[in-house]
Amino acid sequence: KGIQVAIDGPASAGKSTVAKLVAKRFNYVYCDTGAMYRVVTLAALRHGLAMDATDQIIQLARQIKIGFKPGEPEQRVYLDGMEVTQDIRQGEIDSNVSTVAAIPAVRTEMTRQQREIAAAGGIVMDGRDIGTTVLPDAPVKIFMVATAHERARRRYVENQAKGIATVSLEDLQKEIELRDKKDSTRAVSPLTQAPDAIRLDTTKLSIDQVVDEISKIIKK
Ligand code: C5P
Repeated sequence: KGIQVAIDGPASAGKSTVAKLVAKRFNYVYCDTGAMYRVVTLAALRHGLAMDATDQIIQLARQIKIGFKPGEPEQRVYLDGMEVTQDIRQGEIDSNVSTVAAIPAVRTEMTRQQREIAAAGGIVMDGRDIGTTVLPDAPVKIFMVATAHERARRRYVENQAKGIATVSLEDLQKEIELRDKKDSTRAVSPLTQAPDAIRLDTTKLSIDQVVDEISKIIKK
């Protein structure tokens, strides 16, 4: 039936790329929890809500339907049945998502949905609080890290490949560091390594090497 694999770490550490490949290798479900917070942020912006309109954002988070469909090269993401795969990767979402993700009741709702998805069986879930909060009993927990410089470089290349308008490499690194800081210092389930997680520094590793490393850990 498969096990739960939790992959956490800071922004652009390669979590989703690796998580997706690991899921494919083991025929597990893949869940990108960052995409869920991005969809809530997009919905709030589309409703013209200010990022401090906490009560309305909470209500929206409970009302909207977040959907996933497998796809190549990346999974498709839906907001109330409309595809938003590209929309949730724009700079405006990057700069607002950490504020939305810091709202405790939004996290409660996302956590509830994530546990529902994980109940299916074999799952690879990536995010910030999967090993600590969403799936604390997951038998495999990975905490992926890389230098901020390397993470910015990867995101830059990725944005270019996807045709997403991007700021300079330097500004991208600043944005990533600011988001990590916000995610690590919020009151509820901040970004932190679970005590029983295995730390993987991917700065000098290829995607294949990371996937192989995690696959070995799963098979143990
Ligand atoms: O993984 P990604 O960069 O797409 O995540 C976007 C944002 O969503 C993070 O910066 C964080 O604020 C939030 N997030 C979270 N908890 C998760 C996944 C993402 O707070 N499990």
